[in-house]
Formats: sequence, C-alpha cells, structure tokens
Amino acid sequence: MSHIFILIRGENVISSSNCMQKTSTNISKKLREALYREKKELLEFYKRINLVPDYILEAFIRVPREEFVLPKYIKYAYVDEPLPLIDNATISAISMSLLLIKYSGIKQGDEVLEIGTGSGYQAALIAEVVCPRNKKGELIALERKPVCTIEISRKLYELGLSNLRKLCYLKCIDIKHGDGSLGWPDKARKFDAIIVTAAGSEIPPPLIKQLKIGGRLVMPIGTGFWQKLVRLVKVGENENDYEIEHLEDVRFVPLRGRYGVEK
Ligand code: SAH
Repeated sequence: MSHIFILIRGENVISSSNCMQKTSTNISKKLREALYREKKELLEFYKRINLVPDYILEAFIRVPREEFVLPKYIKYAYVDEPLPLIDNATISAISMSLLLIKYSGIKQGDEVLEIGTGSGYQAALIAEVVCPRNKKGELIALERKPVCTIEISRKLYELGLSNLRKLCYLKCIDIKHGDGSLGWPDKARKFDAIIVTAAGSEIPPPLIKQLKIGGRLVMPIGTGFWQKLVRLVKVGENENDYEIEHLEDVRFVPLRGRYGVEK
C-alpha cells in the first residue's frame, strides 16, 4: 500500500484517459505532508482493529477525502469524524463510510445506488470498489455506469457533481438531483446494493423494488438522536420477500422527501 504517498503528494493535475483530474491547488506542501501522515496513521489503525477488508482500505487510500470536505475543514480531512457540509448535511466519519461499504457486501462488477450524494465521498469510495480498471489501474469509462447517486438538495447536488467531476469519477458514476426515497428515476434499473446515507422512519418501498434478488440495502432507521443501522436482504421476487438485521447504532442526518421524515 505504498502508493498512498504518491497519491496524496501527487501533482495538482494528473492526466487520465478521457478526463483531466484537478485537485485543490490551495493545499500547501506542509499541509499536504501532514495529511499524508495522518492518512497513513489512520490506515494503520484501521488495519490493526481489522475494521474492513483490504479491498475497502484500498478504496480509502485512493480517494482523497481532502478534496470532498469544505475548504475550511481540509486540515481535518483525516480525523475520523463527520464534518459539516452545506444545507445541514455532513460528510460521514471515514470509518462509517468504509463500514457502509462492508455491510453492503459490494464487489467489483456490482451495480450500486446511493441515496444522499452530499460531498460525493461515499460515491467515490463505492466507485473504487465496483468499477473495472485498465492495466494502468485507472477506472474505465462505462456506458452504463455501475454507480448511481441521487441528492435532494440542489446545492449539495452541485457540490457533489463538481467534486466527482474534478476527480474524473463521472466516467463510472451517474449523479442526479431528486428525491432518492422514490428510488432511481429509471425504474427499470435494479441494483445489487443500495446505500442510504440519511435516516428515515421506514425503508422506502420503492427502494426495495429496485433491489435485485440477493441484493442488499443498508440504511439507518429511526428519528431520534441515535438510529439503528439495518441491512435488508431481498430473498425472492415478492415485495415482502426480504430479511432484515440490525447492525449497530449510528447517527445520520434525516432523510427528506416522500418516504423521509422531513419534506
Ligand atoms: N454520502 C454523503 C453524506 C451525505 S449526508 C457523503 O459522503 O458526503 C446525507 C445526505 O442525504 C444529505 O446531503 C441530504 O441532503 C441527502 N438527502 C436527504 N434526503 C434525501 C433524499 N430523499 N434523496 C436524496 N438525498 C437526500
């Protein structure tokens, strides 16, 4: 995992097959080095506590979280805490973003829907796990993008879009502005996994419909200060053919929209 060094201290502009990757120019050399050290320490810590399997840690290494947090929080990019975004949203703590991937059981080739794009960080991690790569290790552009993410707030949609675009993730992520509690607008699409990054009082029925058989949905349920993170596994054709298990107690911002707790 030594390429972490190159990835964090790399040039500001990295060319890629069909996109020019632009990273923030306003990060000083000193700050970049501090971020590198903190990211490496966090990586070692996650390995020590066996937080998630190595293929998820690889995604953590590859995605520059400092490019997804608001500029004033760049120095905290590798502190394992949620950080405020705009419009009352937060980018989740890093360990939570990684655990959502573990719980959803995704692997390369899966098609994944995320509800609540926010900064775009979680979507980028998902893309690193599921999207195919060329020989140089770059993600390959696909006509049918395997990662779909939807955001209800216009401002956050624009933030997520701009973050994912500057880092060339749009070649395998489709992003839309809209109410994700109603599912992905193309109803014919079915997903191997759905990750909801906002807490609701129920699992929105349209989301269960858009799961493939064997598909997993991970979502925080509850309206209190703490919510219960649950995993639903769809086991048959019927809408009621699913199993649900409780994973752990978590804290997320409320789900809005038709099947949310706030309009
Ligand atoms: N996954 C994000 C975290 C976002 S916080 C990240 O990695 O940064 C939760 C997000 O869910 C907020 O941006 C909020 O606006 C969004 N959200 C809430 N209800 C939603 C809905 N019904 N559809 C789509 N997005 C929603």
